[in-house]
Amino acid sequence: MARTSLPFAKGLPIAAKKDVVVIGGGPTGVPAALSAARAGADTMLVEQHGWVGGQINQEMPLIGFLDSNGKQIIRGLGDEIIKRLVALRASPGHIRDEHEASFTPLDSRMFNAVSFQMFKEAGVTVLLDSYFADVIMEGETIKAAVVANKSGLQAIEGKVFVDATGDADIVGRAGAPFTKGGSDGKMMALLLWMLFYNVDWERFRDALMEDPQLYDVDPDTPGISGEGMKPEYFQKTRFVNFWGFRNLVREAQKKGYKPGNWRVGVWCPGRMDQGGYASLRYETADGTNDATDGGNVSEAEMELRMMVPDAVSFIHDWLPGWRDAVLASVSPILGVQDTRIATGEYTLTEDDILTSRRFEDVIAVGGAKIDDWETYKMIYPKGNYDIPYRCLVPKGVENLLVGGRSISATRKAMMSVRAMGICTATGQAAGAAAALCAKGNISPRRLDHRRLRELLLQQGVYLGSGELDGGSGS
Ligand SMILES: Cc1cc2nc3c(=O)[nH]c(=O)nc-3n(C[C@H](O)[C@H](O)[C@H](O)COP(=O)(O)OP(=O)(O)OC[C@H]3O[C@@H](n4cnc5c(N)ncnc54)[C@H](O)[C@@H]3O)c2cc1C
Repeated sequence: MARTSLPFAKGLPIAAKKDVVVIGGGPTGVPAALSAARAGADTMLVEQHGWVGGQINQEMPLIGFLDSNGKQIIRGLGDEIIKRLVALRASPGHIRDEHEASFTPLDSRMFNAVSFQMFKEAGVTVLLDSYFADVIMEGETIKAAVVANKSGLQAIEGKVFVDATGDADIVGRAGAPFTKGGSDGKMMALLLWMLFYNVDWERFRDALMEDPQLYDVDPDTPGISGEGMKPEYFQKTRFVNFWGFRNLVREAQKKGYKPGNWRVGVWCPGRMDQGGYASLRYETADGTNDATDGGNVSEAEMELRMMVPDAVSFIHDWLPGWRDAVLASVSPILGVQDTRIATGEYTLTEDDILTSRRFEDVIAVGGAKIDDWETYKMIYPKGNYDIPYRCLVPKGVENLLVGGRSISATRKAMMSVRAMGICTATGQAAGAAAALCAKGNISPRRLDHRRLRELLLQQGVYLGSGELDGGSGS
């Protein structure tokens, strides 16, 4: 019988011993590491790339800082980073929007510079270009993370680990329970964003207003008020957020264009004199779109990057105002929307979000819409909702916390909590909890949430307990 696995045993060099080890440096991992270090824990951040920011590097604006009433609910470290970027003129701050509640554009290169500066100030040890591959377990306790980098395989010992990989990679490797995909096991399509300069936004906006039907100004995009997207929206805003063009894509296809398997989205999230983004979409050959499968990831990367020339020619020839648009960059990373979700001590539900359910152990307040990229239906919470600490505590493993897209939630609820503004808050909470647990030698499961909430309030986090002043909202 053909062999399907090979034994592998090797003593690994111990590269570091830390109180807290955060794996993944996205919108979750950056505040997680900062929060743990500021709380006095000897902290290491491990990131597979030579940069941090995760999906921020697709140049998308952060959603979630304000709720649908315009109240700023994400503060703490996420907001501190934005304030630093505003001071550097690398972000306009939080902008209210009829369709997103708010978005916070920023320059990902400046985000990187600011994050590294803040790591230095807080004393975080950063290990870049290092891929987390496995765990060494003792019963249900993680002894060390196994990472691969130019030095080969290394072990990093830690008292407490934070899974900020977005994909719950540590949860998966530790053998802890998780869910993945819908009832058919499928996950949402994989995406790739392209950035263009030299878009004639005035022309684009005028065209949408003149012929909303042709350009598919989208009745499925209801907006906070509950009404469909109206052409007047484009009159009011200097920031365009538009998904549509289905009619145009169909017409182009009849004429032999290959715009690709995509629903065209156009963002002008900065200002109208800045660039615009368009997104490509791909479903893997096995139909699962499973981005925790190495073969699928590689296939999607290649196929999406091969679509770029056809997509650019469609954009030049069919999108009003994009004739002379210049392709400035294609995202260096794949857009992954949904993979593993940890099964935690509590699972946040769509109902919790839509009824604004309050929890005694709230560690972050969210307000982003449930943004379903499968059905393209948006559901808006009324105001905001609580995220309990127990969603960060995975079952089946003792010294691990989860933040960001993979906290314990139903798949629908994940479609709200994954907004990057909210990820900054669950990341900060996971980091703070990890520091308390490492210093107090306790399992996250036994941490008194009141101590955590007290620390988070000291760190400037909003927990729904009254107004706090000093946000960077505009
Ligand atoms: C196409 C697309 C459009 C979106 N649009 C928006 C938007 O406009 N606004 C918004 O707020 N949200 C948006 N989202 C959602 C949002 O980007 C994600 O939910 C969010 O980035 C999740 O944050 P995270 O920190 O959990 O994971 P990520 O952003 O994925 O960060 C994870 C980090 O961990 C690192 N990592 C992963 N695995 C390993 C490993 N094994 N070893 C070492 N490092 C590892 C990664 O390199 C990365 O830096 C979008 C998502 C997609 C895919």
